[in-house]
Amino acid sequence: MRMAGKLRIELGQARALCCAPLLAIALTGFACDHAKDSAPNQTSQTPAHTVNADSPPLNLPPDNGPPPKFDGDRAMQYVKDMVKFGPRPLGSANHKKVEDYILSRLKGDDVENDIFTADTPVGKFPVHNIIAKFPGNKDGIIVVASHYDTNYPLRNTSYVGANDGGSSSALLLELANQLRGKTRDGYSVWLVWDDAEEAMKPDGSAGQPFEMDFLQDSLYGITHLAEKWQADGTVKKVKAFLLADMIGDSDLNIDRDTNSTPWLEDVVYEAATRLGYQSHFFSRTLGMEDDHLPFMKRGVPSADLIDFDYGYNNVFWHTPQDTVDKLSAKSLEITGTVILETIRILDNMPQLPPK
Ligand SMILES: [Zn+2]
Repeated sequence: MRMAGKLRIELGQARALCCAPLLAIALTGFACDHAKDSAPNQTSQTPAHTVNADSPPLNLPPDNGPPPKFDGDRAMQYVKDMVKFGPRPLGSANHKKVEDYILSRLKGDDVENDIFTADTPVGKFPVHNIIAKFPGNKDGIIVVASHYDTNYPLRNTSYVGANDGGSSSALLLELANQLRGKTRDGYSVWLVWDDAEEAMKPDGSAGQPFEMDFLQDSLYGITHLAEKWQADGTVKKVKAFLLADMIGDSDLNIDRDTNSTPWLEDVVYEAATRLGYQSHFFSRTLGMEDDHLPFMKRGVPSADLIDFDYGYNNVFWHTPQDTVDKLSAKSLEITGTVILETIRILDNMPQLPPK
């Protein structure tokens, strides 16, 4: 994923102010300046984490019942297991090992394999989306997605993507543990480990010029799945699409995304608040280009849960320094429980707003 090119450049400029006492004002101004569709008050000092003023009031269910369970230590072990295979770009032997690893953890579950060949700027590659389906007694599906590939090794041959792809893929494996073995009292939940999210050509993140339009050279797997589910009618049944990406950073600060559905982001924030984790959410607002876009385009309410600030000035992103020592089990637990609580709130809302 990436931010829109213009946003990324200006984030760099905003970060240049980080050592000045104006940091908070600079970041708030940055957030407002680039959230024109959803935050028209560009000079507002309102913190970015507050409920979106343009959203209709949400009919939220009462906050009762025990908090969801999520084993952060077990999820961290899954990250370590996947990273041990090494870089996992499309078409590599390591990629196949990670596919097999994910499938081995889903034995006995209802799994759909969506396999196709992607025609990319650097050749044709096999792509493998893995979908695990956990049934509910309510009509409709909530999708939780994460990509598991690392980018094509034109940039960094030792890049293992512990946070970028590893953390969220591990999180989904632990979600599967929590969902397995019972019919949910709510919507069906489908977990999607999507493939080929990363651009195959350098996208400028390592200092190279933009050689390709990112959206034409990335998101191959999720785009294929969205097209397939549109053709067979599944898209109409998807009530919400929750994306997790780069959520393992031990300094967890999940951004509010202006390319996500405002009311669904508000539900995520409500879930975080109910669990006492709101300080990790939405202190900054960015516009992300990520795996949620093909579903947004098809009218599915979507939310990208992403912490795009990975190390000071994003120094670990897409570098060999994206390793497990930068992550924490607590961050995985925070994101995992907030996703489960978000699903529980959606299950119990009398009516979900349209996109
Ligand atoms: Zn990436």
